[in-house]
This record gives sequence, structure tokens and C-alpha cells, in this order.
Amino acid sequence: MHPYRGRFAPSPTGPLHFGSLFAAVVSWAHARSHQGEWHVRIEDLDPPREQPGASEHILHCLSAHGLTWDGLSYQSQHTERYQHTLQSLIDLGAVYACPCSRKDLNSHHAQHRSDCPRPINSAQDCALRFRSRTATHDWRDGFRGHQSFPVEQDFVLRRRDRLWAYQLAVVADDHAQGITHVVRGADLLNSTPMQLALYHAMAWSAPEFSHFAIITKDHQKLSKQNHAPPVDTQKPVANLLNVVRHMGLPLQGLTPKSALGDVLHHLLEHWQNSPVLSANDICQADH
Ligand code: GLU
Repeated sequence: MHPYRGRFAPSPTGPLHFGSLFAAVVSWAHARSHQGEWHVRIEDLDPPREQPGASEHILHCLSAHGLTWDGLSYQSQHTERYQHTLQSLIDLGAVYACPCSRKDLNSHHAQHRSDCPRPINSAQDCALRFRSRTATHDWRDGFRGHQSFPVEQDFVLRRRDRLWAYQLAVVADDHAQGITHVVRGADLLNSTPMQLALYHAMAWSAPEFSHFAIITKDHQKLSKQNHAPPVDTQKPVANLLNVVRHMGLPLQGLTPKSALGDVLHHLLEHWQNSPVLSANDICQADH
């Protein structure tokens, strides 16, 4: 296996905005400065939330910024892998069917475990949930040091509408694809304990996790919902200089007229000196 294999795993719910470009750059720089491979995995498991053309836009945007990948995959093509992982967890007795919605669970959480588990095969209109055995998981985060987070009680592996849940798919893929380093935004910190619970149940070794600060505007993560504009793929150098600025790094004479290769080289040389990656968030300044 390759000693370092990282990945960027965007969901194609819209074009990349500045926050997701920032995320791509950090995971790319982390991989490349460790002489590692960097893979792109399009997380297209939720068709109702997807936007036509978003995957193509994301890939075009990465290429336009010189972020070249060593492998490309689509979660929609990994259904058998998820089915297989789910079956292994069922065989371990770690899964039950449950008809409760999130709302039901909030209102009768205490009774949930005694009342509702159904046999997996007879269950119609049920989510399949993982039986959490540990209340918290700890890990050594590459950016944040020791972390300890609670596991969400009996989280969903396959939804009532039979779509695969993110937690199952991401672990099955990271394991099968030999991902050694997961470098992603701090908004996913509370998913990591659930993922560690699945690694533990499957007796798979977990990758190293590193969570960097996310870009926010008015205290909210940039997203399609809060109208973050798409990255302008015609201005890759200016966008990458904006990433450098948001990392709190000096531009050292680089300007929007600099060559793309020079800006990427600067990022690779200096990103590790960024004083802000271990913060919770980085406020977006208008440039
Ligand atoms: N697909 C997830 C997202 O776009 C990221 C998953 C991950 O990096 O683990 O938020």
C-alpha cells in the first residue's frame, strides 16, 4: 500500500465555493507535502440534494486551480461495497431496523431501544441503525492534538428511503481505497467518533484524521444555503492568493499576475506555518 494516500470528497450539491476550494487546497497540500497521492471522491449518494452538472463543475474547478488528482471515483458506483459492509455489521449483531424519525427519537429517546428495534429482514420503512457500544471516541488529530467526542446514539447506516448514510459510505470507501490520511473541515469533527466506531466494529485500522478550520461568513459555514458564490474558475491565481491570505500567510511578492505554478509552490512550501488551521473557523474577509 502507498505510505500516504489522501482524498478530497466533495458532495455534488452545487459548484465549489471559496470554503470548499480552501478545503481542497489544504488536503491537497497536506498530501503533496508528504509526497502522497491525492484522490478525489465525488460523494453522490443523495440524488435529491444533487445539482445537475455540479460534479463536472467541481472537477473543472480543481483542474483550473492546478489541483491534479491521482484517482477519481464516484460513491454512486460503490453500492455493492456498502451492501457488503452493512452485511458484515449485521452478521456482527451491530445493526437493527428502526422506524423512528429523528423527530420521534428526540421525543421518546429513552424508550427507543426497548420499544422499536425490528428484525432486519422484516423491516419495511425502517432505517438501519448501528448499535453504538461506546459513548465517546478519542483520537489524536493531526491539527488539534487529543480529541474526545461523543458518539451519536445509534446512528443511521441506511436511511428509511434506502439511501446509504454518509457514515457507512465514507468508512467503507476510505478503507477500501486505502486512504491513510483524512484531512477535512472541523465541521466534520463530530462525525469522526461515529466513523471510529465503525472502524472498531469492523476491526479495520483507521486513517489519521486532521480537521482544519472552516471558512465562515457572518458566523456561518459558507454553503449553497447561505448563497456562497461559486468560485470563478477564470481567476485561479487570485483565488489561490485568497487562500494564502486566509491561511494567514504572507504573499511574498506574489500577485494575481503570478504564474499558477509559483502560487502552488508557495502554498506547498508554507501551508504548514499557517497559524489558523487549528482554529474552529476563519472569518471570510472580502477581498
Ligand atoms: N462529502 C462530505 C462533504 O462534502 C465530506 C466528507 C469527508 O471529507 O469525510 O461535506
